[in-house]
Amino acid sequence: MTTLGDLGEFGLIDRLSRLLPSAPTVVEGIGDDCAVLRLFDRLMLISCDMVVETIHFRREYATPEDIGWKAATAALSDIAAMGGTPLFVLVALAMPGMCEIHCIEGIYRGLADAVSQVGAVIVGGDTTRTPGYLTIDVTVVGEAIGDRYVARRGARLGDLLCVAGRLGMASAGLHSLEQGEPQPELVRVHNRPTALITQGQWLGACPGVRAMIDVSDGLVQDAGHIAKAANLGVDIDPARIPIDPALEEYCRKAGLDARRFALTGGEDYALAFAIAPGAYEVCLTNFRREFRTEITVVGEFTSAWKGVRVAGHPADRGGFDHFR
Ligand SMILES: [Mg+2]
Repeated sequence: MTTLGDLGEFGLIDRLSRLLPSAPTVVEGIGDDCAVLRLFDRLMLISCDMVVETIHFRREYATPEDIGWKAATAALSDIAAMGGTPLFVLVALAMPGMCEIHCIEGIYRGLADAVSQVGAVIVGGDTTRTPGYLTIDVTVVGEAIGDRYVARRGARLGDLLCVAGRLGMASAGLHSLEQGEPQPELVRVHNRPTALITQGQWLGACPGVRAMIDVSDGLVQDAGHIAKAANLGVDIDPARIPIDPALEEYCRKAGLDARRFALTGGEDYALAFAIAPGAYEVCLTNFRREFRTEITVVGEFTSAWKGVRVAGHPADRGGFDHFR
């Protein structure tokens, strides 16, 4: 009997998607950051993201406001990954009976802050009691700008892999909490990540950007999704990944490898994208003029192999898979 552990998160998604019929209004179904639906003359983007206490968050490491903020950001970031605009949010909350009201209100304050920050609104949801852990499921409805959105597939041979935003800080923040020596700058990124909505929209309109994903499960894994969708391989050059000074400092003191956090740590919600080699210089120069967000070329797509290599060597299983 095959178990979830054998199949892994992405094997499970592949398998379930084969069970489900599609419809003519579905432009992109299962397998991207958002589903893309054509409603009248508009392209709507829809995604949901669920977080469960003890798996995604611990109440001793974050305030209720932080927990709500991060749950909303994880969902909003999927709209950023398509280059879209978030509009409406639904929140489903499963709570243990002992949960204090001030905690629930705090979570909603955090949710509302993150959602209003990007110009969207919470319009409803559902609540239930659970015999298990506190669980928050956030659904985001957004729309593409005009008829343009950036899918995961679309990378071509020779395209460059770029990252906008920081990598490794959120997972190092969690590491510092688990060690009992919280490093404030890293913990702030872990608890209060930013969904790069305007950056995603800008990149979505940038000529030569052909595929995009948000880095929720680690760069190795998420760049691997772009490569797989294009039936290509990708080579990541770890030396080109910018390391934030706070991450560098934390790792130096703790005797840890900062690049390992940057390659495999999730939840920073940076954007990874494939861009045509002839287009990247103009794109990166103009992006830097527009935003203070870091942006760098970190790799290249290749047909010499399938999957992800780091400096030419097959990457060990990095990143986050819920069932392995
Ligand atoms: Mg995503």
